[in-house]
Amino acid sequence: MLETSKTLFERAQQSIPGGVNSPARAFNSVGGAPVFLEQARGSVLTDVDGKEYIDYVGSWGPMILGHAYGPVIEAVQEAAAKSTSFGAPTEIEVKMAELVKQMAPGVDKIRMVNSGTEACMSAIRVARGYTGRDKVIKFEGNYHGHGDSFLINAGSGALTLGTPSSPGVTEGTAKDTLTADFNDLNSVKKLLNEYKGEVAAIIVEPVAGNMGCIPPQKGFLAGLRELCDAQDTVLVFDEVMTGFRVAQGGAQQRFGVTADIVTYGKIIGAGLPVGAFGGSREIMQVVSPDGPVYQAGTLSGNPLAMAAGYALLSELYENPVHYDELEEKTTYLFRGMKEVFEHHEVSATINRVGSMMSVFFTREEVRDFQTAQTTNRELFRDFFHGMLTNGVYLPPSPFESWFLANSHTEAMLDETITAADTAIADAINS
Ligand code: PMP
Repeated sequence: MLETSKTLFERAQQSIPGGVNSPARAFNSVGGAPVFLEQARGSVLTDVDGKEYIDYVGSWGPMILGHAYGPVIEAVQEAAAKSTSFGAPTEIEVKMAELVKQMAPGVDKIRMVNSGTEACMSAIRVARGYTGRDKVIKFEGNYHGHGDSFLINAGSGALTLGTPSSPGVTEGTAKDTLTADFNDLNSVKKLLNEYKGEVAAIIVEPVAGNMGCIPPQKGFLAGLRELCDAQDTVLVFDEVMTGFRVAQGGAQQRFGVTADIVTYGKIIGAGLPVGAFGGSREIMQVVSPDGPVYQAGTLSGNPLAMAAGYALLSELYENPVHYDELEEKTTYLFRGMKEVFEHHEVSATINRVGSMMSVFFTREEVRDFQTAQTTNRELFRDFFHGMLTNGVYLPPSPFESWFLANSHTEAMLDETITAADTAIADAINS
């Protein structure tokens, strides 16, 4: 099994750091060679050895309607035939901005970039330029891409690899990033009191997805909104994962709290490299060329990326029933998994918000970074490999969210639950 993947991984390691172009793809926390993929349709992946898997990574979020989704492929092909890039304005950028404004609460203006990282970096620069302040509050275990200011107590690959704070980030940068505890308003209040009038922005994943899926507790997001209002601090929702996923209007809509700046990624590009940041007219007017806060990109608003994103977002906008179906499917999987773990008397906390979920092998309620750490990593590793052997591709870390797609059929969900039954039985008996 995985023979070709193993060979390719050996070759890759000679020419690419760690053999991968993004650390979360390496199987560092679960061990073994990562699976090299060849193609995918809907929720079925095919690897380079021809083995098929039911996919719960969904390219880490974008594939909400499945891989190779017809309208997206057609839109990209049509756009590519006209040119892959102009570096000049196009109509599709205008249509895209107008559509996002219709879907996203509180967004008057939106700027396209090429990744979630860029979106979050730019959002913070805008918040600093707008407020004239330097400091930023983030939450332990949240991940906002690999911008210097965010690599302090970060989640995702940084957390999985045990390097939540990265060498190469200067002390000067690090001192402007303050870290609070997710779901703990008091920890935020303390920082805001200590640094009164100095905090430009609070940036948060409204549903944490990068230390595993952790929902915001009742009142947490609304509390952040109030604290920001009291000090004229800019509230930034990083909706790179949650945007267009946990509801049509993302976490803002689902939890009824509107941020000042919102960042997007993943679904907005349907798998092509896109990110975006948007907000009120008042804040966005500081962005160049309207205002002095510089932000730019040769490939930003790229015609292929815009065509792909527009095709996917239009479908989600016109047929909101997708969200009801995703909710039902994820609930079905959640219940099935819960029964499996109960049956085998394995302590497991399963968190779910919409079509994001994570399994933590712990007795504790998982509500923040500390409680996420109580998960049994060895058990996850064995469970992960058992699932892989049984044809289910999960994120290769206990600290990542699983993403469901509307292309998951009931038969696939049943197959996944059966695989979990086998995988957990093998894991506890090994
Ligand atoms: N913010 C969040 C919440 C993310 O999950 C990610 C990526 N997983 C990013 C930002 C960074 O996005 P990208 O990888 O596209 O740079």
